[in-house]
Amino acid sequence: MNQTKYDILVKGGTVVDGTGSPGHKADVAVKSGIIAAIQPGLPEDSASSVIDAGGKIVCPGFIDAHCHTDWAILDGPWDDHQERQGVTTQIGGLCGTSPVSIREHFEQANKQGLGTNYALFAGHGSIRHEVMGDENRKPTSEELDQMKALLKTAMDEGALGLSTGLIYRPGVFSDTEELIEMAKVIAPLGGIYATHMRSESDDIEKALDEAITVARTAGTPLQISHIKVIMPRNWGFAAKMLDRIRQEQGRGLKITADQYPYAVTGGGHYGAARLVEGYDRETGFDMFKEQYQDAQKRKEMAEYASALIAERGGPEYFSIIKASQDKLVGMYLHDALSKQAALNLGEFIVEEIHKSQGQFAMVYHSVSEEELAQFMQQPWVMGGTDGVPGAFHPRTHGTFPRILGRYVREKQVLSLEEAIRKITSLPADTLGLEERGRLTPGAIADIVVFDPDTVIDRSNMVQPTLYPDGIEHVLVNGVPVIENRERTGAFPGKVLLRK
Ligand SMILES: [Zn+2]
Repeated sequence: MNQTKYDILVKGGTVVDGTGSPGHKADVAVKSGIIAAIQPGLPEDSASSVIDAGGKIVCPGFIDAHCHTDWAILDGPWDDHQERQGVTTQIGGLCGTSPVSIREHFEQANKQGLGTNYALFAGHGSIRHEVMGDENRKPTSEELDQMKALLKTAMDEGALGLSTGLIYRPGVFSDTEELIEMAKVIAPLGGIYATHMRSESDDIEKALDEAITVARTAGTPLQISHIKVIMPRNWGFAAKMLDRIRQEQGRGLKITADQYPYAVTGGGHYGAARLVEGYDRETGFDMFKEQYQDAQKRKEMAEYASALIAERGGPEYFSIIKASQDKLVGMYLHDALSKQAALNLGEFIVEEIHKSQGQFAMVYHSVSEEELAQFMQQPWVMGGTDGVPGAFHPRTHGTFPRILGRYVREKQVLSLEEAIRKITSLPADTLGLEERGRLTPGAIADIVVFDPDTVIDRSNMVQPTLYPDGIEHVLVNGVPVIENRERTGAFPGKVLLRK
């Protein structure tokens, strides 16, 4: 019997190992889910199957440090947008929302099959909701004890730490003291405090202060979720934020962050429901049509929309994603407006909502790309999609190829090696994912083969679910999930528990 030494040989590529070291030409051999050898010139007949990686980069699988897959993972057929962008491990349970029983959730996920590895944070909001509903008050000491007990159970069941979402119900109702008490539960267990801060806009300075106070007082590392500064009037604050963070890091507090590489945020969708006061699921387009017939009301609607846009910096920060005519789609609002000389801003919006039967929608480019790049260049900022399956935002499908294509190749914000480090070993080390995030003999074989000349996101604000280009092969625990850019249908992913 002719037994081969290896299962898979990834041959002829440039190995970028995830540590930040320069890439070098070598072959990577995989045996039983583990990287068995990395060296040049391994013979083709030493493996039962060979992946041709000539001209390609071979690197550790990407770790999505922040996503919301847990909201949908048990509901339908497996969604492969993560594998398609090279993600081999995804972390859910962020922004305060997670399954309350992590153990049950993991059992079901395992039963269903996982295309990638999967780990969770325990969500403060979900735990608070379980104990006291959506009540806007402090918990009694008994309720706080119950919340702490649920958190302790989640940690014992493998959660990586505690997440908060302090702009959402019920997280928004909690005070700093409550957060400190909760964070104290995870501190002795080595858990991380990950926070969607109370403000990413006008009150961001206070919000950052609170995040630091919680982590410092409880004694946990701090992970700032989807780090950014929102609204043009706050641009310029990133530098101050970075000064503060570096100062705290210098005083021994471990601070890291995740980031998605887009100037439009998850809250940046502006459809009729947002542009017309009182327009919601119940009143909807019927209410709008009625008001539209009345000249006075039509004028008031236009004034409302116009004031809203002005308050957010003006029409140059909005681009159109749905409109009555195709030629308007993709245009910035001020350009579209300049072609409609007879209408002012508010009138244009009202007319568009009318002509499109309520479908008109825009996105708000509320983040400065300069500041986005500034955050991206920090050695402690990692990639995270903040992906919400089914949402309007292209980040769910495009984050990692966009970092490598737009920010490495096109804009040269990062070197290739540094970008790969920030989406592999940095999250693996920060989150305690042992044996992952590096290509080295003995490590688990989560591997991506991609083309550095073509890798790019294709998903955009108008078509948010297009798969990226350039991600050629993806192995999860040594098993191909993407082969020649196509999904294999394998489910080799594992639940990863806090060690
Ligand atoms: Zn969030």
